[in-house]
Amino acid sequence: MENQHTPNKCKPHAILIALPLQGHIIPSVQLALTLASKGFSITFINTENIHHQITQSSSPSNVSMGEDADNSIFAHARQSLELDIEYLTVSDGLPIEWDRSLNHDMWVGATMYCFPAHVEMAVAKIVKSRPSVTCLIADCYSPWASKLARKYGLLHVGLWTEAAVVLDVYFHLHLLRENGHLGPGARKDEIDYIPGIKSIKPTDLTSYLQEEDLTTICHQSIFAQIDDAKKADFILSNNIQELEAQPISALQAQIPFYAIGPLFQTGPGFSKGPVATSLWAESSCLDWLDTKPLGSVLYVSFGSYAHIGKEELVAIANGIKLSGVNFLWVIRPDMVSSDEPDPLPVGFRDEVGERGMIVSWTRQTEVLSHRAVGGFLTHCGWNSTLESIHCEVPLLCFPLLTDQFTNRKLIVEDWGVGCNLCDERPVTEKEVSRKVQDLMGGSMGCKLKSKMKQVKEVVDNAMAKGGSSQRNVDTFVDNLKVAWDARLAS
Ligand code: UDP
Repeated sequence: MENQHTPNKCKPHAILIALPLQGHIIPSVQLALTLASKGFSITFINTENIHHQITQSSSPSNVSMGEDADNSIFAHARQSLELDIEYLTVSDGLPIEWDRSLNHDMWVGATMYCFPAHVEMAVAKIVKSRPSVTCLIADCYSPWASKLARKYGLLHVGLWTEAAVVLDVYFHLHLLRENGHLGPGARKDEIDYIPGIKSIKPTDLTSYLQEEDLTTICHQSIFAQIDDAKKADFILSNNIQELEAQPISALQAQIPFYAIGPLFQTGPGFSKGPVATSLWAESSCLDWLDTKPLGSVLYVSFGSYAHIGKEELVAIANGIKLSGVNFLWVIRPDMVSSDEPDPLPVGFRDEVGERGMIVSWTRQTEVLSHRAVGGFLTHCGWNSTLESIHCEVPLLCFPLLTDQFTNRKLIVEDWGVGCNLCDERPVTEKEVSRKVQDLMGGSMGCKLKSKMKQVKEVVDNAMAKGGSSQRNVDTFVDNLKVAWDARLAS
């Protein structure tokens, strides 16, 4: 143990390392803001590549940096909100501008084998200069975190940014193995033996657990990450206790687990938060949305990470065109592949005309909270799911990768706030058109909206003063201090 502390009454100091992915940075930043507002000192670490992307995509009009911005994405939060958040960047082992999307497995390898070495150098330096460092907070997808925390005498806090049910499954992988539901020739029947999960179909597991080959670098990485997460002293999660009560209880039986979600920056009306987090430049769509009638626009986005096959994208495009509804569609330049930046059918843009707006990135929370938006065709990313619930926008689900399959089950089957875009793959344009029309103007849309109201209320109550998420943060802070005092005394 290299961190020689003596008991003191200093405020806790957390080193928070964000996983270098858009969907993980957003809740990590919010966690930093939350803990800093509870009196923590925070040192927030981003990769150089992520920092480069955020600053490249930020312009004075869409980033809230302070006037004398010191290259920290937290400059404004530090100055205006007086939050004690230091910021630094480390390499992930790859050149800053290298295309990680096109070379995914190499990037996974770098985050597993190179990134931790750079993180360790940074942690060693911080611990040496700041004896008040208490804990290392790392995304649960960081297989090196517990060893690093132990080496420097820090408490290890995992940050879980997906549904609790996903972590509950990952924590019980041994049961899937023992019961023949994992790997080559896996059983196809329902899984009904995981604590906290009444029943789940194999097709609703994360995509990695549905694959036959479990030896890929992604699998090695995930299995190591989950083994490591189990060793954490605490897990903070972007979940809502009341929405996933049973898997959360099952997790709490194994590890101190605190549901403190939703972790997103919420200003009044979901306005821009104090910290820039977008990896791509945001197009403002408000002027266009302002011209559209109440609830008439379908918002379409498949998130920041997943790719979609060209044929499916074309079927969805033609289906949306056929439906006749207004739509705002985010198509990232690497949506199909970085090699094919404009995958839409030839002539599509002209044919839909004013009815459609297509951008490569936008401020999603601003769009979802606009009065013109009446439905969200989504890949079911966890942040998108929580944001849509917060804005009471019903979902049309088209999961592509990882946890999105499990999230679809929650959205459609458990909470009833969305429906499937198609029942079988490949999706056809006729089915897309029918589902879009039913969501935007049919009885299905009405049904989902009324269910959405109830679920939103549950989330609002959790977020409110005295609500479960607020109480859980406070309990975590108290318990962390107790654990730290006990460690110092030992
Ligand atoms: N997002 C955004 N602008 C866009 C598309 C997405 O700001 O044009 C944000 C969205 O609000 C969400 C995040 O990117 O917070 C995506 O996270 P999610 O978990 O939904 O999906 P992932 O990208 O991790 O697959």
